Amino acid sequence: MELFDTHCHIDFPVFDADRKVLIQKAEAVGVKYIMVPGVKKEDWRLLRMHVALNKNLHAALGLHPLFIDQHKDKHLHDLEMALNLPPVSAVGEIGLDFYNPDCNREKQEMFFRAQIKIAGHKELPVILHVRKAHTEVLKHIKMMNFKQGGIVHAFNGSLEIAKEYIKQGFMLGFGGTMTYARSVKIRELVKVLPLSSIVLETDAPDMIPSSSTSDRNTPVHLLDIFKEFCKLRDESPEELAAATTANAKKAFKMDT
Ligand code: ZN
Repeated sequence: MELFDTHCHIDFPVFDADRKVLIQKAEAVGVKYIMVPGVKKEDWRLLRMHVALNKNLHAALGLHPLFIDQHKDKHLHDLEMALNLPPVSAVGEIGLDFYNPDCNREKQEMFFRAQIKIAGHKELPVILHVRKAHTEVLKHIKMMNFKQGGIVHAFNGSLEIAKEYIKQGFMLGFGGTMTYARSVKIRELVKVLPLSSIVLETDAPDMIPSSSTSDRNTPVHLLDIFKEFCKLRDESPEELAAATTANAKKAFKMDT
């Protein structure tokens, strides 16, 4: 069985002491692929180094909306330059986060649109981070005629919104949240969405699954998430593992 953790910040300093061990442990439980999304320019170099040193890791580079105050216009040019140096699988994580009412919406939208444009030019998929902004994100994607698709990470919208993203060529990412009984809406979505549109993620070090007592999530926990996923779906575990991994490879254009 091979699993794909489509969203894991294994480059963060919280993993400095045991990164290598965790990647090996994850592989031992079946997590063969780990996508590491970039969040700000100053982190990209180290992220790429970790990816270069470990065959199971794959890189995405981007400017995350929650770090908007740290992004400079120049970083958009730097992103284009950084993408010229392969291997990079996606632009991400990028998006809009309007959870905090005092956030700088205009600057977020400017950086989001600029990165969508870059991804379009480079024919790369994107990893989306969206909170309280699905309408706006979908609007920009349609207006800009973005056709590369990608993954909406930690999807938390309605079935209608999910269908809109699928129509635009996106997969929906689900993780630790589905392991909590109180996550009624997300668990229902995981049951009814077409299997062809679902990918799994840990979002480590965040989004700790219900089974864990640690204060840190790790890629090893993708197995706990997968087990819960199997309870929610009718297909066999073999089929679910194969399909979610194939979906992720398709989204990141790793299947050619
Ligand atoms: Zn993230």
